[in-house]
Amino acid sequence: MTTSPNLTFNDGNTIPQLGYGVWQVEDGVAEKVVRQAFDAGFRHIDTAKIYGNEAGVGRAIASSGLSPEELFITTKLWNADQGYESTLAAFETSLDRLGLVSLDLYLIHWLQPQQDKYVDTWKALVELQKRGRVKSIGVSNFTKEGLQRIIDETGVVPAINQVELHPFFNQAELRAFNVSKGILTQAWSPLGQGGELLEDATVAGIAAKHNATPAQVVIAWHLAIGNVVIPKSVTESRIQENFAALGVTLDAADVEAINGLDRGAEGRIGPDPAVSDFA
Ligand code: NAD
Repeated sequence: MTTSPNLTFNDGNTIPQLGYGVWQVEDGVAEKVVRQAFDAGFRHIDTAKIYGNEAGVGRAIASSGLSPEELFITTKLWNADQGYESTLAAFETSLDRLGLVSLDLYLIHWLQPQQDKYVDTWKALVELQKRGRVKSIGVSNFTKEGLQRIIDETGVVPAINQVELHPFFNQAELRAFNVSKGILTQAWSPLGQGGELLEDATVAGIAAKHNATPAQVVIAWHLAIGNVVIPKSVTESRIQENFAALGVTLDAADVEAINGLDRGAEGRIGPDPAVSDFA
């Protein structure tokens, strides 16, 4: 069976480059679709406390027959739980819901600059890693300034920064900053949440050339530029199609053409982490 390539974190651990995301998947549906993702070949699952489906993901893990060592599970600390002690407590409740004794990757979900608790929150993640509760620690929706501040105040560099990233909003500047610090970049809403991106003429042309689908071409672009990528679907045929993107190899001209679709800030779908504050 095909397996995802791994990328190596700055802490020496590895992460499967292609994973399966479960935002907006109801808890009652999560077991079924995560099992379908496992059957398709995915071994890396991206959830969060706020998605309300950690328990469903946990049921899928428990019923899959796969051992925790074969899997890579990420969850995220919600904004309302930021702060040192509250982070330590929230981590344990997430782990209980997942039915796991330790976690592969824990992320601070949002920077929340106005709340201004992210340095203490990061210190709690550092402590959880020291205690062996979590293998790797990282952040999501962090700006360059937020990353620099936690590095300066703790000396610990996040393994990964998960941010909105797709061909219409390709985050070239933040990706370069992450590279300069040894931080991997993980793309959320990698397909632009479906819709216009998957109907784009450039993407369609490249798809026809490779006898692939538009979604596969976009996933192959993420893989080619070094992103960790976590497409979501609750349709089994699409889950399989998205995993099969591992078999699509773009050439340099394809990658250049997709790089050219960037719309800068206009291409952003979700909130801007530099200003958003929604605890
Ligand atoms: P996505 O870009 O993965 O798009 C998902 C949508 O694209 C699906 O609902 C479906 O409509 C369509 N789609 C999927 N596969 C397709 C295919 N093969 N053909 C045609 N259409 C297809 O969007 P997303 O769910 O927003 O992002 C993926 C994951 O990223 C989430 O599930 C979650 O794990 C993570 N995420 C994280 C944050 C964060 O703040 N850290 C925010 C949003 C999403």
